[in-house]
Amino acid sequence: MARPVVAIVGRPNVGKSTIFNRIIGDRLAIVEDKPGITRDRIYGVGEWNGKAFSVIDTGGIDLDNNDEIMQSVRAQAELAVQEADVIIFMVDVKSGITHADSEVAQMLFRSRKPVVLAVNKVDNDERMTDIYEFYSLGFGEPIALSGSHGIGIGDLLDAATELLPEDHSEEYADDVIRVALIGRPNVGKSSLVNAILGEERVIVSDVAGTTRDAIDTPFEHEGQRYVLIDTAGMRKRGKVYETTEKYSVLRAMKAIERADVVLVLINGEEGIIEQDKHIAGYAHEAGKASIFVVNKWDTVEKDDRTMQEFTNAVRDQFLFMTYAPVVYLSALTKSRLHKLLPVINYVSDQHAMRIQTHLLNDVVSDAVAITPPPSDKGKRLRINYVTQVATKPPTIICFVNDPQLMHFSYERYLENKIRAAFNFEGTPVRIFSRRKS
Ligand code: GDP
Ligand code: GDP
Repeated sequence: MARPVVAIVGRPNVGKSTIFNRIIGDRLAIVEDKPGITRDRIYGVGEWNGKAFSVIDTGGIDLDNNDEIMQSVRAQAELAVQEADVIIFMVDVKSGITHADSEVAQMLFRSRKPVVLAVNKVDNDERMTDIYEFYSLGFGEPIALSGSHGIGIGDLLDAATELLPEDHSEEYADDVIRVALIGRPNVGKSSLVNAILGEERVIVSDVAGTTRDAIDTPFEHEGQRYVLIDTAGMRKRGKVYETTEKYSVLRAMKAIERADVVLVLINGEEGIIEQDKHIAGYAHEAGKASIFVVNKWDTVEKDDRTMQEFTNAVRDQFLFMTYAPVVYLSALTKSRLHKLLPVINYVSDQHAMRIQTHLLNDVVSDAVAITPPPSDKGKRLRINYVTQVATKPPTIICFVNDPQLMHFSYERYLENKIRAAFNFEGTPVRIFSRRKS
């Protein structure tokens, strides 16, 4: 399901990234202890009153290099207007209303997007009286915040979530496999889309949908329905910010969120680079099924070991995604292309697989018998039972005597045992511990 988007806009130094970190704080803590994931701090997921939303810190997006602050703030506001469902407009109580604030206010006002006005750095009661001048910006009652003290965040989120659109349910039926293609520019995303749609026995529907972020192409193959979510095609709309790298990462992330299966494209000609890891990390974090698609395989000089060596490199570089299958093909010559759809079907099934509780418990009991759980200061972790509570991705809860005793390494061990028994190929598996004795 696509999450609605909240964007934070404002001049430099008003405290946008401080508030951003407060909003996504808990989530960050959860993912940051997993090795191998680099993250981008302009985009995160927040949750408030049971509503999940994406947050963008527009200040983190470097939109031009000419140091013209006003120009850059303007571009960021423009981006927020285009991308966001709700905008948090942030100002600084210490500096009062500046010229830049007024200019941003006018842009936001004209956009007619819902805006929450947040006045930051209200660190004490005396400053509270200074917030009233901000009424004149025309966005109603300002919300007083102190990012440094963590004050007012709840009020801010109440106001922002109140304005979120009600229905953000996905427009496709449950049996449609939603496939996103991600990868750096020129890796061959558009070529692969065209190649798939040009395949024999692929029936493309007449209507291609265009969302704000992507072009969706529904098609059918051997009775299975799919939709390709292609962000590449949207690139040529010409706005300055659309060419910046972080912006295309943003696009990719939004496509990932709407997808069931993510094709992580790698350029076989050039090998794996840091940016590939970055992008793949998001698919993992978002809990999507993933396939590494090594494209441009036609350009690679091969012998009988080349593929295995490349796969080894993929495994080394993407330690956190050893579950994802690797497919080699050429979008240009269409060689090996027919291998792709069956793998997509397969990982999509694995992503949606549900294991019966008694089978899961048998596997975990055996695992515990082989390697007993860790103990700390004489107290040993006891796993009472486990159950799969969700699919897409498979999510397993371990009911234990004390969740603190569950270590990452033991969780990993259990995950490996569960995978050895049930596979879950192509999908992350989430394991959580809850107290229950
Ligand atoms: P951004 O450029 O808008 O993202 O602003 P930052 O979040 O980087 O914050 C700019 C500066 O303001 C940093 O030095 C922060 O520590 C400081 N700051 C952020 N929030 C507050 C606050 O509530 N009170 C005070 N006094 N300083 C703050
Ligand atoms: P995108 O930016 O990821 O959408 O990449 P494009 O699909 O636009 O492809 C970028 C360039 O790589 C184009 O010149 C393509 O013709 C070329 N290309 C794409 N796939 C292949 C392939 O499998 N083999 C070769 N040799 N070239 C390819």
